[in-house]
Amino acid sequence: MIIVMEKGVGQKELDHISEIIKKAGLKAHISIGESKTIVGVIGDESKIDKEIFESLDYVESVMPIQKPYRRASREIHPDNTVVDLGKGVKIGGNEVVMIAGPCSVESEEQMFTIANTLKKMGVRVMRASAYKPRTSPYAFQGMGPKALKILDKVRKETGMIVETEVMDTRNVEEAARHVDMLRVGARNTQNFDLLKEVGKVDKPVILKNGISTTIEEWLFAAEYIMNEGNNKVILCERGIRTSEPFTRNTLDLSAIPILKELTHLPIIVDPCHAAGKRGPIPALSKAAIAVGADGLLIEVHTDPENALSDNAQQLKPAEFEKLYKELKGVAQAVGRKFG
Ligand code: PEP
Ligand code: MN
Repeated sequence: MIIVMEKGVGQKELDHISEIIKKAGLKAHISIGESKTIVGVIGDESKIDKEIFESLDYVESVMPIQKPYRRASREIHPDNTVVDLGKGVKIGGNEVVMIAGPCSVESEEQMFTIANTLKKMGVRVMRASAYKPRTSPYAFQGMGPKALKILDKVRKETGMIVETEVMDTRNVEEAARHVDMLRVGARNTQNFDLLKEVGKVDKPVILKNGISTTIEEWLFAAEYIMNEGNNKVILCERGIRTSEPFTRNTLDLSAIPILKELTHLPIIVDPCHAAGKRGPIPALSKAAIAVGADGLLIEVHTDPENALSDNAQQLKPAEFEKLYKELKGVAQAVGRKFG
């Protein structure tokens, strides 16, 4: 249930309404926006009669909730959520944020080389996986805890903001101590225990869509994280499985404007794991910004031919730099900053 308050409502009224909601065994989620103050009633709304609120003279209107995902819904939180990554970088505001780096952490030297290369170009946020979800159990599985130590060193010595994927509830706490931001990958979008665990951490979480999750299932996954108290969720479109085999997955660009309507959470795009090959990445990145993405997640490797994972889709630094420059123009064309 969503309660829209009359203009100029004060703390006394907000406390009063919160008390009524609490007494009914429900939770109040207060959202003070620029134009409106809204109180979301979280929980089974059948426990309370909407007329109780309608009878209050400081309530403008009461609407039963339309969307089953409540915390992630724009109905409850009309203003965009801006996730602060630290060091002055924010996702979800006017700026489109670039997150770039190798698919996997392979060695300390590799990480420092790519971190310094990207930093020189102006990139402030880095990706690199310590744990790898591989289709084959015989493929490189990631360096695990050793990689986390490298990531920690990289962020401390270069000042870059660093993110990495978590796949297992048992690794969440340790990963969170070593990096600035966590990522839940496509294979774990509906790993509910993992979602709850990252929800307990006070760090931004990139949540990818699963290869065949619906938009509603994806938003429910975000809801799992937010229900535990972590509202710093950044959705990341990474392609879906369709009948088309030319690309590894089909990048669902239509999901971006749809999500912008349904949710207040920021949305970034990973064109690399969608395409599975270098060729389409520049065009897909430009299109992503044009349709409203708040950021990009792009794989860059100094020697992709010899990378331990995803060789075909990691851009070389020179290719990335060219694209990075071109993207500034696209962002400008749609009235956004880029960095
Ligand atoms: C990744 O970003 O490293 C990754 C494995 O991507 P996805 O979960 O989208 O397959
Ligand atoms: Mn990869």
